[in-house]
Amino acid sequence: MFSTRGRRARCRERRQPFAEPGSAGRERKAVRGVRIRVGHLYPDYLNIYADRGNIAVFERRAGLSGHELEVTAISVGDEVGAGAHDLLYIGGGQDREQALIAPDLAGKGPAIEQAVDAGAALLAVCGGYQLLGRGYLDQHGEWLAGVGLFPHETVAGERRMIGDVLLECELVTGERRTIAGFENHAGRTRLDPGAKPLGRVIAGFGNDGESGYEGVRVGRALGTYLHGPLLPRNPWLADWILSQALAHATGGEPPELEPLPDRLEANAHAVSAERARRRGGRF
Ligand code: GLN
Repeated sequence: MFSTRGRRARCRERRQPFAEPGSAGRERKAVRGVRIRVGHLYPDYLNIYADRGNIAVFERRAGLSGHELEVTAISVGDEVGAGAHDLLYIGGGQDREQALIAPDLAGKGPAIEQAVDAGAALLAVCGGYQLLGRGYLDQHGEWLAGVGLFPHETVAGERRMIGDVLLECELVTGERRTIAGFENHAGRTRLDPGAKPLGRVIAGFGNDGESGYEGVRVGRALGTYLHGPLLPRNPWLADWILSQALAHATGGEPPELEPLPDRLEANAHAVSAERARRRGGRF
């Protein structure tokens, strides 16, 4: 029912990732004064573990780098306007909230895919991450059809995968970084062969507790199970995403953001990473 060849093939053939941001832009000049237009999908339904906090981080860091964030809520019945957003964001939710918004989200699918194909950045967390794939078979056996932007499907398992997570990833070739966060999901997400994960699990469950991978990446779109919220303890990731959004806003290359002190953020990352190493990935 949820794993047809046709759907897989369609997904693969359509998903030519937007220009892979490489390491070529290191001497780029700092850009300032850009208005970054964020579309926040279903803030009224999908906001567990303070996922809304990720928006607060984008707002603050954009401001400190001399930019301005304009956040528009996009909920049930609202449109994702063509070219209207430099960054789309969707948080996590329980199965119940996911079921409430899934049909509406699937209807927005083509507009979301177009936005990403045109180079908009996107961050999807947990419940939102699941529904941007082809779909989620939830704990009641109900199939929630998704958007098909991400090359994956999710099936709920018996036991929830809960705890701190530590990942290693390389969004910019040659720059290895870690991401720390917290996961709590019943869903097991299986990436299609050849799909690019967000990172490799150092500690924690990740996508399905088996593959050793976490999240997914399609061009400037990232999906992950990590809450916390994710960005306060991974400020470099917030800046990477903002930089992709700035590239969309200006039509140029992703600019370097001015480095910020981030002492508290580094401490938060260290505490979380240590907890993941000690106890992550255990039922
Ligand atoms: N309901 C989904 C699951 O349990 C997503 C949960 C979440 O967003 N934390 O897999």
